[in-house]
Amino acid sequence: MSLPRVRLDRCTREDGGIWRLDAPQVRHLVKSLRSYDGASVEGLLEEGGGGKLLMRLESKDGAYYLREAGEVARTPDKLEITLLIALLKAHQFDEVLRAASELGIKEILPVECERSVPRMGANASQKTLRWRKILDEGSLVAGSVCPTKINPVVTFGGISWDRLPENRTAAVISPASRPISEIAPREGQVVYAVGPEGDWSGHETSVLLSRNFIPVTLGERILRASTAAIAGCAWFRMGGC
Ligand code: SAH
Repeated sequence: MSLPRVRLDRCTREDGGIWRLDAPQVRHLVKSLRSYDGASVEGLLEEGGGGKLLMRLESKDGAYYLREAGEVARTPDKLEITLLIALLKAHQFDEVLRAASELGIKEILPVECERSVPRMGANASQKTLRWRKILDEGSLVAGSVCPTKINPVVTFGGISWDRLPENRTAAVISPASRPISEIAPREGQVVYAVGPEGDWSGHETSVLLSRNFIPVTLGERILRASTAAIAGCAWFRMGGC
């Protein structure tokens, strides 16, 4: 059985291996998960390379604390996955973020493509905050030490290709695409790209190929972009765990 999880980076560190919980985490742990004094909790610590600690819950004068009680063994991901994803309509994009965070995707690069329906527009910072919240929740549910990161949205022309891992795969609907099952990296870094609801434009596809992306198919069926993103991420994650 897995333990309830808390992000220690959001707690206040006190002397003697004690961490004071903030109000939202008290609500989560005590009110929602009904954890009581003495309960075991897993503390996720991103700072300093990251780690997982076994903690015991204590309360005093209405405040809640976690006391360090040992380390929890963890196996760092052998394969780090970056998802390059076209901006999608809100509910589809949220769905991708939720699944990507649970699957431990390292980083998300959202791209405004030629055929992306939504545009970033004026409420960009509000959207980014909502996205971060979804990613933080999913990463906590999954017990990831480091939450999935999301980069600022760029246009397709503004992608920094040199920053991307050399192992590159793009979901492309074409008879020339290779089955994704033939691409099964088990370690290192990989970037996986998925186009918008209206598909990659011809120009975007040729740029991806010229930037050494291997075009892959996920089968005969045309999937929604969100399904193609989640299925591909799951494929890479399962190979690398
Ligand atoms: N509107 C288009 C489909 C776009 S699907 C049409 O009706 O033809 C959106 C994105 O999901 C695509 O750009 C591609 O990246 C990915 N995708 C969906 N199904 C796929 C499949 N079977 N193989 C590879 N990529 C797929």
